[in-house]
Amino acid sequence: MNDSSSRLCAWVYQLFRYPRTRFRQYSSTPVPAVEVPKTLPFPRVEAPVTTTQRYPDKNNKSIFNRKYALADMVNGPLAITFLGTASAVPSHTRNHSSLVLKHDAGSWMFDCGEGTQKQMQRGGDGVRMGQVKRIFITHMHGDHVFGIVPLMASVLCGAGGTVGASDPRLDSAADKSARAETGEDEALEIYGPLGLREYIRRALRLTYTNLGGAYRVTELHFPTDQPQPEGRPHLLELPGKNILPHGDGLWRDFCITPNLVVSAGPILHSAPCIGFVVQETNVPGKMNPALYAPHLKRNKEALAAEGIANPMKLLATIQQGTKITLPDGTVLTPPAPRVGRKIAILGDTHDPSPMAVLCDDADLLIHEATNAHLPDIDAATKSTDTFETVQERTICHGHSTPQMAGAFARRIGAKRLCLNHFSSRYKGDESEEAMSIMEGIRALAIKEFGSDDVTCARDFMRIEVKRQEEEIERS
Ligand SMILES: [Zn+2]
Ligand SMILES: [Zn+2]
Repeated sequence: MNDSSSRLCAWVYQLFRYPRTRFRQYSSTPVPAVEVPKTLPFPRVEAPVTTTQRYPDKNNKSIFNRKYALADMVNGPLAITFLGTASAVPSHTRNHSSLVLKHDAGSWMFDCGEGTQKQMQRGGDGVRMGQVKRIFITHMHGDHVFGIVPLMASVLCGAGGTVGASDPRLDSAADKSARAETGEDEALEIYGPLGLREYIRRALRLTYTNLGGAYRVTELHFPTDQPQPEGRPHLLELPGKNILPHGDGLWRDFCITPNLVVSAGPILHSAPCIGFVVQETNVPGKMNPALYAPHLKRNKEALAAEGIANPMKLLATIQQGTKITLPDGTVLTPPAPRVGRKIAILGDTHDPSPMAVLCDDADLLIHEATNAHLPDIDAATKSTDTFETVQERTICHGHSTPQMAGAFARRIGAKRLCLNHFSSRYKGDESEEAMSIMEGIRALAIKEFGSDDVTCARDFMRIEVKRQEEEIERS
């Protein structure tokens, strides 16, 4: 097939694959958003099985093996690396907003300001381009989204085309897109507010960027949003949903993976803005085998007669949450499940209260603190400024002070607070001046939070989110 006919085939394929999107392109009629189905497409992994069974059917081994593998997976580390911690203007010590949540199944990025891929190349604590599987955008302000198209071009092996020869990316676009749609290949999943899909489409098209892999944009729409024509989809864009919030105004469980579930809620800012909550699914409780072993050994012969040669193997079943009744009538109850870790990552805001209920008891809250009033520490403080005038100005721009972040952390019962998105006047290095100002900002948040577990983020800082019992063991 020559170059022009293969392009024609790809175009025809796109035309039939995107009937609704095509309609959208030529019509000014807004396409209604899709509400998250009440019945989720696949079951959420809840607390371990609580049904009573005598003991596992030996022919049912594969189920136990699968569940055991899942438990291993959810026990992995969860770590955040900050790639950019500046508000509107970057400085030589702080880049525009971006952070990466690293877990067993890859890396998820939250916001992608200008220069984010450069930050990844600079180190980013081993955060690699190819590991980015999902990108979540809080809002469409440039300091949170200007970096997404160049990052996509790198993650998806983009290029600007060829001269005098057929571009292999273009020739195989339809195949790659079809493989991603059937799940054979992994697509880059992108989530964010209204306008994100259009922004990416137009930027890719106007810069003649070809991609070597597929992506999909899922938009979280506010009830008042008015979708507009979005332009022609890229050859490697898969159809994405527009999701409306539930009746409580929250986008609950819109992204479900085997070990992490993401919900979102609206937060108040000078543009439509979203906060994300990443919830690890519950995991089986810690087991003390010594409590179970005597009972299993006592029933050894009776169990052997029923085909279970090694009674200690039943420990794995109990560990998974299955209650077992032994031949002598003894009931072995599994340890209580451990609640998964919860991380709340908020975008810019002067009031995140609409999503407070989602953030309850977060193990880690990441909240902006753009401006602070530090007259005794910050030499640049205007003589006319007071705490009140600084707070008023901050709120007027849709942002928060450290005290506001601390108050929200206390309200939701957060275990730990991390402040970020600092004004460019606050350096993010280890100079005496920067450390002193950051310590002042931290103190302001602590005062309202009532806990000293407060950290001020710096570019390339890494925070590991431990389970609560691990924290207790560590201290
Ligand atoms: Zn911002
Ligand atoms: Zn903003």
